This record gives sequence, structure tokens and C-alpha cells, in this order.
Amino acid sequence: MTISSSLSDLLATAREFVDREVIPLEPFFLTGSHEELEPRVVEVRAIAKKMGMWAPALPKEVGGAGMSLVEFAHLSEELGRSPLGHFVCNAQAPDVGNMELLLQFGSDEQRERWLKPLVAGDIRSSFSMTEPGHAGSNPTWMSTTAVRDGKEYVINGDKWFTSAADGAAFTIVMAVTNPEGDRYRRASQIIVPMETPGFTRVRNTPVMGDTGSGWASHSEVSFNDCRVPVSNLIGGEGDGFVLAQERLGPGRIHHTMRWIGICERALELMCRYAIDRELAPGRPLATRQVVQHWIADSRAETNAARLMVLDAARKLEEGGSKAARTEISAIKFYVANVLQRVVDRAVQVHGGMGMTDYTPLAFWYRHERAGRIYDGADEVHRNVVARVELAKHGSVDLRG
Ligand SMILES: Cc1cc2nc3c(=O)[nH]c(=O)nc-3n(C[C@H](O)[C@H](O)[C@H](O)COP(=O)(O)OP(=O)(O)OC[C@H]3O[C@@H](n4cnc5c(N)ncnc54)[C@H](O)[C@@H]3O)c2cc1C
Repeated sequence: MTISSSLSDLLATAREFVDREVIPLEPFFLTGSHEELEPRVVEVRAIAKKMGMWAPALPKEVGGAGMSLVEFAHLSEELGRSPLGHFVCNAQAPDVGNMELLLQFGSDEQRERWLKPLVAGDIRSSFSMTEPGHAGSNPTWMSTTAVRDGKEYVINGDKWFTSAADGAAFTIVMAVTNPEGDRYRRASQIIVPMETPGFTRVRNTPVMGDTGSGWASHSEVSFNDCRVPVSNLIGGEGDGFVLAQERLGPGRIHHTMRWIGICERALELMCRYAIDRELAPGRPLATRQVVQHWIADSRAETNAARLMVLDAARKLEEGGSKAARTEISAIKFYVANVLQRVVDRAVQVHGGMGMTDYTPLAFWYRHERAGRIYDGADEVHRNVVARVELAKHGSVDLRG
């Protein structure tokens, strides 16, 4: 896939930026404190703004860098080489998805009050859909309700895995507003500012031994007679799933290209360690055939994954989410598994060092395991692809 010379220049600049400014922050993120990291992140965010890499997925009119989905996908790979790459460019999930949602479906008032400061990086946001009491794999089944009372919605329910709610200014909650409606028309998306009475951020859910903090955390949240104005509804009543689908298509491109960046960095680290680490004088690890095969398999799988994602991004950009349905589901489970294999090999090559937080490998090994679960578990996406393939050869009842 060819890229323009201006994009190629931007990617070279992004690589240099990540190497020079972002990777040196990693020790503070991986083994230091939030207090040590925060001022450094603020400095590097200012550099990213000056370099034109700020909010890359958003149009220039609202303060972004105005990149197309395919351009952002390429940039995402470069930024993904560090766990902090997307955050320092204000391109991190779930904010980027919320920004795109508000841009496309938000009212003028919502854009002014919430989108503007989000793009500026003055506030952060979160998205509350999954509930502890229901299978998130069937997102139409939920207990959280938003009942209209005059000019307000009264929201009740519990959610968990609301990523980045810690320190966010608001969350977008998915709640049932039309209980009698068709299963895909029952829910709506509503903005809830964190200071609203009746909203509680209960705790950060520990994930693989890490409760996290700030944007790198996942909260359990609760709504108890939480009242917000009807004007906080995004789109129309019952539009919740349509909006979620619109958000998830590009979101899966963003995640998978970020994962390819992780694979590239893991491969770099794996090769360097294999060259530097000697098993005996003059006999580096790289002389072992098994290590060479791990490196070769990682290169082949990463390249294949990249081509699949760029193809899906192009189809999505040209034809919309529906046209790229198979490709989006295929990359979601395929790349998540490539990522897991590549990071696992890199950990193995590093021996004991691979288990420490002196490289980002252990962080990715712990936290990116979730890539096979969030935004649709592997099995759900495999079902989508299989259904489309089977339908090409006749109709069959696939209800489980
Ligand atoms: C790190 C992380 C961050 C997250 N961030 C957010 C967030 O910001 N906002 C939010 O709302 N949610 C978030 N989630 C929640 C996530 O979207 C859900 O975990 C996901 O949708 C799966 O739902 P579940 O956990 O209820 O698993 P379940 O639905 O209970 O599924 C359990 C397992 O069953 C299997 N399975 C499910 N369906 C099928 C099927 N049809 N066929 C075969 N097997 C199947 C899969 O292996 C699946 O992993 C996050 C989750 C994680 C781990």
C-alpha cells in the first residue's frame, strides 16, 4: 500500500518524536508515581501540539490535525510503540471515540460544552456501557434505565469497566429509555457530568494486579436517581446502538493499528536483546534458531496484520461500517491474537527481564490481553465472519 510523501514525512517525524520525547517517559509511567509523570506528560503534550500531531483524528475546524482514517491508522502505529504515545497526542481511547461521537451527533450546545475542551485536552471523558450483571457480549441486554421526568432523565443502574472515569469530567452512559422498543432501539446515549448528584465512581476495578489511576484505569460506577437535563441526550431517543456501531467501526481500526505499533516495538526489543545478550562469550541469543524463528514469525504476522488493518480502514472510509463489517471483525480477533503472540515471544526472549517493568513488555502482556475481550470478544467477531461466509453458500439457522 503506497503512502503520500507528506504522510511518509509525518510518520518519520512521529517516530522521532516517540523515540526522543515519549519513550523517556516510560520509566515514570511503568515504575514511578503519577505525581512524577504528570508534569512531564504536560510538557510533551505541548510539544505534540506544536508539531501538528494533536487530536489527529479530529478535523482542523475543531482543533484537531484533520487526518483521514487511513492516515490516522498509520500514525497510530507510530504512537503505539509506547504505552503513552496516544495519550500525549490526545488520541487515546475512550476520548477519541467520544470526540468523534460528539462531532458527528452532538448538539451545538454539547459540542461547545464538551467537545471543545476535550479536543483542547483540558478535560477527559469515559463511556459506560457494560454492566456487571449482564453479558456485555449481548449489549442490548442491560438494566440501567433513564426515565423521563419533565425536562430531565432520571438514571438508575450500575456499570463497570468504565475506562478512564477516574479524573474524567463526564461519562456517556448507555441506558434503556424505550423498554418496549425493538431490541436495537431500546437504549440511548446520555452525557452525565461526574459531579451530578446520584452519580458515584465506586472504585477502580483491579486489572491483572493493577488498580491503575487517571486515564489508565477502569472504574465501577453507579447511578442512583441521577438527574440530567434532557438536552444531554446524544442523537435521538433509542439511537444508542446505532451510535455505538458508528463509534466502534473506526475504534477497532484505532485499537488494531495501535497494537501493530506494540508488535513493532516488541520486535525491536526482542532483536536488540537477542543481539546484546550473550549465552557465552561471543555467542549471543540471536545465534539460537528458535529465537530466529520467533523473530521471523513475529515479522510475518505483524506485516500480515498491518495489511489487513489498512485494507479494512480503506473499506470503512470508502463504504462505511456496514461495507467493512467482515474486515473489521476479522482484524479485531486476528490482530489481538498476533499481538498476544508477539508480546509473549518478546517476554520469553527477555527471560527474567521480560517479567519486570524495566521494559513495557510486561505492561503490554498484562493489559493488552483485554484486547481479545473488549469491543467484542474474539468468539463474537469470529461468529460475524463465519455468518457472512456461510451466507454466501446458503441459508442456515445459526441461533445458539
Ligand atoms: C480492559 C477493559 C476495558 C474496558 N473498557 C470498557 C469501557 O470503557 N466501557 C464499557 O462500557 N465497557 C468496557 N469494557 C467491557 C467490555 O466491553 C466487555 O468486557 C466485553 O463486551 C465482554 O463482556 P463481558 O465482560 O460481560 O463478557 P461476557 O459477555 O460475559 O462473555 C464472557 C466470554 O464468553 C465468550 N462469549 C461471549 N459471547 C459468545 C458467543 N456468542 N459465542 C461464543 N463465546 C462467547 C467470550 O469468550 C467472552 O470473553 C472493558 C473491558 C476490559 C477488559
